Amino acid sequence: MVEVKRQSGSRPRHVPERTCIGCRSTSAKREFVRIVRTVSGGVEVDLTGKKAGRGAYLCKQSGCWELALKRDHVARALKTSVGPADREALAMYGATLPAAPAESRTGES
Ligand SMILES: [Zn+2]
Repeated sequence: MVEVKRQSGSRPRHVPERTCIGCRSTSAKREFVRIVRTVSGGVEVDLTGKKAGRGAYLCKQSGCWELALKRDHVARALKTSVGPADREALAMYGATLPAAPAESRTGES
């Protein structure tokens, strides 16, 4: 007995590109961490990528987070001001990331 599973993902999928607000490099969305301006006006890390609100993207690199915070790119991208507590939370999250992306991830295809 053969169970045939129809895969609905056979058609080519468009991968939307996003821009890191720190280093301005573009990549697929999944390569980034999303931050979001919440409805209450705060700014937070959106690990699910699904929170409602205006979003911006940063590489999974601490350097980009530092840069974006230092130069106020976060505030500009989200069209809001980042309060000290939110800024600290973002900086803390950024500090948990590696300074540079894992090397030689040259894709497994
Ligand atoms: Zn970046």
